[in-house]
Amino acid sequence: MINELKQLEKNALAELQTAETEDQFSNIRTRYLGRKGLLTGLLRNIAQVSDAEKPLFGKLCNELKNLLDARIEEALQRQAIRNKEDILLKEKIDVTLPGNAIKCGRIHPVIQVRREICAIFASFGFSVVEGPEVELDYYNFEALNIPRDHPARDMQDTFYISDNVVLRTHTSPVQVRIMEKVRPPLRILSPGKVYRPDSDVSHTPMFHQIEGLLVDKGVSFGDLKGILTAFLKKIFGEGTILRFRPSFFPFTEPSAEVDIRCVMCDGRGCRVCGQSGWLEILGSGMVDPAVFQNVNYDFEEYTGFAFGLGLERIAMLKYGISDIRLFFENDIRFLKQF
Ligand SMILES: [Zn+2]
Repeated sequence: MINELKQLEKNALAELQTAETEDQFSNIRTRYLGRKGLLTGLLRNIAQVSDAEKPLFGKLCNELKNLLDARIEEALQRQAIRNKEDILLKEKIDVTLPGNAIKCGRIHPVIQVRREICAIFASFGFSVVEGPEVELDYYNFEALNIPRDHPARDMQDTFYISDNVVLRTHTSPVQVRIMEKVRPPLRILSPGKVYRPDSDVSHTPMFHQIEGLLVDKGVSFGDLKGILTAFLKKIFGEGTILRFRPSFFPFTEPSAEVDIRCVMCDGRGCRVCGQSGWLEILGSGMVDPAVFQNVNYDFEEYTGFAFGLGLERIAMLKYGISDIRLFFENDIRFLKQF
């Protein structure tokens, strides 16, 4: 039996010498040390060994088992390192290849226009303020001189959240909120989303407005004209021709709408201007004393003017876009052009 063991050791070591792959080493382990392996089989037959030789035989078996275990483990580890080195050699990274381009978004045309307008008014000393889109009826209507039974409420269809809460229909409520907190003089600009249940080529249920307010001692309609003229020439070009048209808003008196000579047809008349040669751009007026009273401003001492305009409308005219809905379809081919 001991001779058999010696022979088995010789064979196993010889096989280990020639083995190369992971599979071959694993096979050797199974053949000699597995449950039905050769060495395991010898040990199982220890009963056939004479009592005198049993201790030696057992010891030699164990030594051989440990030796084979160690050799195979060592070989497998060497193999694993070699495999890794092979992979590193084969998989070379070409650092001169161009990388995957990161897809960059663009600034939405409405936001571009908003930034441009804010920058122009910042140069006139206005600061940007914001207010809630879900607004109390009081700020959206009452404080702006539009009581519940006022016919002006019909001018603006409204999304009601409850009897007293609305989605704001304009950015004007921000004026009231700021005036409640800040004493004059003030120059503020309040851009943001507003909501009205309207939908066609020139209306969407959500759109963007910018509202401006200037309050100080001795502010006149001449100041309103001066600032709005300077603004429109900056945004549409120095040669822009304007006209101020009397209008009505409940929160300003007197009120004026401002038109510019049609940028598409230069006043000759086209589809965009409805053949009139003029484009309505913004609404404006001197703040109604009733609004000042609501925020405890002394209307004997202070006067002011306010104006509001739709950002989509400005963007449509600036970029020659005919359908307002294109702004909100988020078609990347459309948005990429700006
Ligand atoms: Zn026109």
